[in-house]
Amino acid sequence: MKAIFLDGASTTPLDKNVLKAMKPFLHHSYKGNSASVHEYGIRASQAIENARSIIASITRAKPEEVYFTSGATESNNWVILSTALNELMKDNPKKHIVCSAVEHSSVLKTCESLIPLGFEISFVKPDIRGIITGQAVKKALRPDTLLVCVMAVNNETGVLNEAEKAAAFARRNKSLSLIDCTQLMGYGDGDTRLCSLYPHGDYFSFSAHKFYGPTGVGCLIARSDVPLYPLLHGGSQEFGKRGGTSNVAGIVGMGKALELIYNNKTLPKYYYTLYSYLLTRLEEFGDTIKLNAYPYHKNIISLNCSGIIQTDNLANLLVLENMAVSAGSACDSEHDDIIGFNPSHVLTAMGLSETDIRNTVRISFTKETSITDIDKFITALKTVINEHKESKYENN
Ligand code: PMP
Repeated sequence: MKAIFLDGASTTPLDKNVLKAMKPFLHHSYKGNSASVHEYGIRASQAIENARSIIASITRAKPEEVYFTSGATESNNWVILSTALNELMKDNPKKHIVCSAVEHSSVLKTCESLIPLGFEISFVKPDIRGIITGQAVKKALRPDTLLVCVMAVNNETGVLNEAEKAAAFARRNKSLSLIDCTQLMGYGDGDTRLCSLYPHGDYFSFSAHKFYGPTGVGCLIARSDVPLYPLLHGGSQEFGKRGGTSNVAGIVGMGKALELIYNNKTLPKYYYTLYSYLLTRLEEFGDTIKLNAYPYHKNIISLNCSGIIQTDNLANLLVLENMAVSAGSACDSEHDDIIGFNPSHVLTAMGLSETDIRNTVRISFTKETSITDIDKFITALKTVINEHKESKYENN
């Protein structure tokens, strides 16, 4: 029996029209290296430039500010390491970074990797709603702040941070800003609000597989007036800033996926329907199940069930009931450690207790999620609650 997929924040299924757009570039007759000057190379290069202009027009960036990468992890690493390297070449380098405590590990760990080089990182905590406010970021700024990192939508709670304000304060302080837009992009109806963030921030990252595109491809948008030092030295691809033969099919797929999600008028309403239905079904548990945060994006919901059940790891118990759910970010879990527990840094930063964190499950929808999936989730949750109560009773 296939598991019920309620883990859209970790990845979304490939849209069939995206696959169709990619197919000519995956076919056995295809032989295009976009760097080659012959007919095949030119065709590949045109496909890449077409995707670049689609992404530029949707995000309002200039085409020459759009860089293709292997995903948001690479884009985030690129920005943080590149700005640090670029700065270290100066006489009096600024060595302070302001980073929200709820960033994805590709931001947190990359910032931390600079500590041995003398960098200081100030981690900004979210407020009681789980939101990183502009004011909190402003307070952490110093004259030597090089970079500010605040993600747009949080991947564990679905809240919208004040990334725009944080970036504006950073600019006033003559600091650079990175906005991780990975979870912002998959909502539909033009709500790839990167275009409204673009005037305020400097660097923006995202991955195609979060909006029904392929895995292993993403973007870094870097404004033309900010430094971007190459990390992958090699060929002259990506304006000489990122060497390596381009992932033509992936890039074409990402362009198509962004176009489709941007024009999807009905998806946010559909997510709202699923969200409201979930909340209604949760009323069956009285007021024992709470949301850890009020999601801006109604497709990411962090459910705290510690008021009705106290287990070592609720998400894993639900996985055993055939639910594809997670405790938090998939990137922070390990497959070979099913009973191990790695407490979510996001929920920890929000001040939740260990019991609350162990009994939290993140539900995240995709456009393929159905009402029946939610019904099955509720049944699985009831089973886990009943079994757990029974085992507790037996042990007594
Ligand atoms: N940032 C955020 C907010 C994410 O949710 C993720 C994926 N979980 C990433 C970055 C990294 O994306 P990828 O694994 O595709 O590089």
